[in-house]
Amino acid sequence: MTFREKREKLQTLYALFEINADGYKKHAICKIGCTYCCTDAGKIDILTIEGLIIRERLSSMPKPLRRAIKQKLAQDKRARENKKIVSCPFLKKDNTCLIYDIRPFCCRRLYSVQECRGRGPTIHRQAYALSKNTVGEMQRLDHTGYSGHISFILDLLDRTDFRTLYQSGGFDPAKIMAFGKTHGVIINRLISRS
Ligand code: SF4
Ligand code: SF4
Repeated sequence: MTFREKREKLQTLYALFEINADGYKKHAICKIGCTYCCTDAGKIDILTIEGLIIRERLSSMPKPLRRAIKQKLAQDKRARENKKIVSCPFLKKDNTCLIYDIRPFCCRRLYSVQECRGRGPTIHRQAYALSKNTVGEMQRLDHTGYSGHISFILDLLDRTDFRTLYQSGGFDPAKIMAFGKTHGVIINRLISRS
């Protein structure tokens, strides 16, 4: 399957989740500018295929903005390596998301029926189960890829040798084993089997 076909399938999975979870998500109190989930979030887990989509968007941004985002990603990576939680590198000063239209599934699945501050999101159990199924399908789709925190996956994709192998459909987890272990990067192929 080509990257384009995978991307289309991914968008279908996003859309199906929205349809199936609509009955739950319609009770959400989420609104523009409410950012606890972007500032105090735990891991912002993405798949490599989502990382490629974000990377593509980054490459189309003006150079100064791209440079600023790269700096924020590097800061985020350092902070996360030191077990600190920092705001998502894609959160803008006006409290909106710079990549909202292509945001990863971990942001799409998230909503809350109660204020999150101090206690985290309150989600229906059924919607959580639906989102877990979607993640499994995404990992099967991206079966030569990996899952992990956004700045770690984007870091991997910045490495030419990793990106070339991944984009050619190659799969060699031994090559990233050391980084994967220390940065909590998961092999999609192994997880999606369970
Ligand atoms: S998940 Fe929580 S913090 Fe995020 S927009 Fe919804 S209510 Fe606000
Ligand atoms: S990608 Fe956008 S929606 Fe997701 S955590 Fe970052 S700023 Fe928030």
